[in-house]
Amino acid sequence: MSDAGIPALMQAAVLRTFGRLELEEVPVPVAGPGEVLCRVRACGICGTDLKIVQGAYKGTWPPELPFIIGHEWSGEVAALGPGTGRSGLAVGDRIVAENHTGCGECPMCRSGRYNLCERVREPGFRLYGHTAPGALAEYAVRPATALHKVPPQVSNAAAALVNQGALTVHAARRAALGPGAAVAVFGPGLLGLLMLQVARAAGATQVIMVGRGQRLATAGELGSTDLVDYEHADPVAAIRAATGGRGADCVFDCSGSPPVVAQALRSVRRGGKVALLGLAGGQTAELPVDAVTLDELDVLGVRSSPGAYPAMISLLAAGVVSTDPLTSHQYPLSDVATAYTMLERREAIRPIVTM
Ligand SMILES: [Zn+2]
Ligand SMILES: [Zn+2]
Repeated sequence: MSDAGIPALMQAAVLRTFGRLELEEVPVPVAGPGEVLCRVRACGICGTDLKIVQGAYKGTWPPELPFIIGHEWSGEVAALGPGTGRSGLAVGDRIVAENHTGCGECPMCRSGRYNLCERVREPGFRLYGHTAPGALAEYAVRPATALHKVPPQVSNAAAALVNQGALTVHAARRAALGPGAAVAVFGPGLLGLLMLQVARAAGATQVIMVGRGQRLATAGELGSTDLVDYEHADPVAAIRAATGGRGADCVFDCSGSPPVVAQALRSVRRGGKVALLGLAGGQTAELPVDAVTLDELDVLGVRSSPGAYPAMISLLAAGVVSTDPLTSHQYPLSDVATAYTMLERREAIRPIVTM
């Protein structure tokens, strides 16, 4: 043990060969200037992590092996690095972390859109869990400016959902969702189930969920007003029928499935918005040009969550967003392989590894 009870070594799930995570003892990272050493308490594994582990983004995410993944996590402050005295953080504070802070200097960062930092591909830029070490480990180092405090009523597992929840807050803001909106959401995975609840919190009175199976049923439990099983009904016709023929004010694609984009564009009302939250792995989608032009449809890309963490933390703290059905699959770090398999088999909406 070194100072303040911080050990020299920690357990981590290390990606050493593509295809599998291995539990190893590695050195505890050291907080540099402006950085904070965090004790990780809960870390989710998501679809992007699966692709990273499988080597889908080899050479970029991660740039090289070995690598520690994990970007949807919560924990507490273990030690403050030099120059963090004015961060407002103290050892023991419960926190969540954004995965990058932007360079702070490029035109996009300076306009507040640091999710679109123009230096993201330059050497030295850190996207934690993607190009810099993630949090599927007992400890992780982050810039103090990436951290947000979490109040006591939000559990570690619930706080690990802030990353994805903040993305849906950003989506709701991009779509300018307001009181009385009729919304459709495609894809009741973690993202869609959070989008549904955040849309309701933003004032949507109707949320039509398109999906299938148990996850669609979960959407009903979490406040979807209309459920459309795409195996038994045409989503476009069902959304039109549920909105009196008009179409939804806004459609959120949380599936990342290219055919859904065309369906979403045909499900939205004139002048409506289609927000895309999922990645399609390089695939392209059909665009009905005349409908987009003549109906003045807005197609919105939604990336990351600039300025959205505080709002998501408040929604969880107030109990407006329910997380219990979303955090049902929790595993100790020693069982990370099972957590990974449960996501791969789609048995868990979001496996959460606890430390
Ligand atoms: Zn993720
Ligand atoms: Zn920047």
